[in-house]
Amino acid sequence: MMLPTHALAGMALALPVAAVAPEATGIALVAGLVGGVFPDLDLYVGHRRTLHFPVYYTLLAAIAVPLAFVSPTTLTIVVAAWALAAAAHCLADVFGGGLELRPWEATADRAVYDHFNGRWIAPKRWVRYDGAPEDLAASLVLAAALWGPVDGPLRTVVAAALVVAVVYAALRRVLPTVAERLVGVLPAHLVGYLPARYLEAGEHATSVSHDSQ
Ligand SMILES: [Zn+2]
Repeated sequence: MMLPTHALAGMALALPVAAVAPEATGIALVAGLVGGVFPDLDLYVGHRRTLHFPVYYTLLAAIAVPLAFVSPTTLTIVVAAWALAAAAHCLADVFGGGLELRPWEATADRAVYDHFNGRWIAPKRWVRYDGAPEDLAASLVLAAALWGPVDGPLRTVVAAALVVAVVYAALRRVLPTVAERLVGVLPAHLVGYLPARYLEAGEHATSVSHDSQ
């Protein structure tokens, strides 16, 4: 699923803190936001493997969440919200599309790497690809759920995530083509800013066009 959905889901998962420790709700929402985004910091280095730990984050959350309920301190709440959001991110990625350049073509068999079992988990494609209409719908529902309970800067974060979600969903299916063309025309040092899967596809497209000349 796309990053805004993960960010909003991480925050939404922290909402129950309001019932247990209302004074810690703000910090818990921030921890949930960070935990929801964190795994995708591996976008450029082994995406969905380097920082995606579906089993270990889940184990951590299984310990940290009950602990936060039994002993609600700022530290236990922050760790619990972060771990729950990161675990939910990795599990949600399993139910999304694969790692292929155009995930709506459903050709890849890799969704998330499972370090515990040492293998790739195949995509289930309940959400067909990141930025799909159903992914945008998830972002909308999560933002609506958060809109009432949050205020101040966090409400701005919710609004910004929603704007990014709408723009990304609108452009998602042309992004691979745009990226492929960029690889051909951008200076080498700027090409490095494109995620690896676009890069590989661009090199492939470039070599194909060279071959056909
Ligand atoms: Zn991810």
